[in-house]
Amino acid sequence: MAVRDGQVVDLWWADLRSAEARLFAFLDDRELERLERMDRAGDRGRFALGAVLLRVAVAAATGVEPRSVTVERTCTDCGAPHGAPRVAGARVSVAHAGPLVLVGTADVAVGVDVESVDRGEDVARWVVREALFKAGAAPQAPVASLMVPAPWPRYLAALACAGPDQPVVVTHDLDESAAALEQLAAGRWP
Ligand SMILES: [Zn+2]
Repeated sequence: MAVRDGQVVDLWWADLRSAEARLFAFLDDRELERLERMDRAGDRGRFALGAVLLRVAVAAATGVEPRSVTVERTCTDCGAPHGAPRVAGARVSVAHAGPLVLVGTADVAVGVDVESVDRGEDVARWVVREALFKAGAAPQAPVASLMVPAPWPRYLAALACAGPDQPVVVTHDLDESAAALEQLAAGRWP
């Protein structure tokens, strides 16, 4: 599979049209607790969708069942469960903006970000900087970063990953994510 040569980053896009009550069954107790404290529907939808899409992306990358993916969010600064998500078997990053949720998976440190162009003057530079920050690369380590197309107009997205070369990006679009989430919700995960 020549196309998988080099560093590969898988990007999964979903939007709030896929956020539905059945997906809440795939969240763990800590995630449900956190959801309880959110009073805005958009926040709840984005968080739940991101948490389940993360399991779908990790399942696709590692071959485990989505339900078997344990997401660790203990903050490395304060110990509260609001840190960047970590899973066994892959490096991951999750971002939300407006209706959009983006999950990136790779074998190396990876960061993704998406923002509305309405957030400010220089959103393109902002998303790249945020992706680099989330990749957590040491200042001296080689890191690749690039803009990636977002599936809604007026949104900009970027990814960053460790390594000297530009990664091969495999994009799983809104339709593919919606189909995977539907299969999962319906109990028909392959
Ligand atoms: Zn903290």
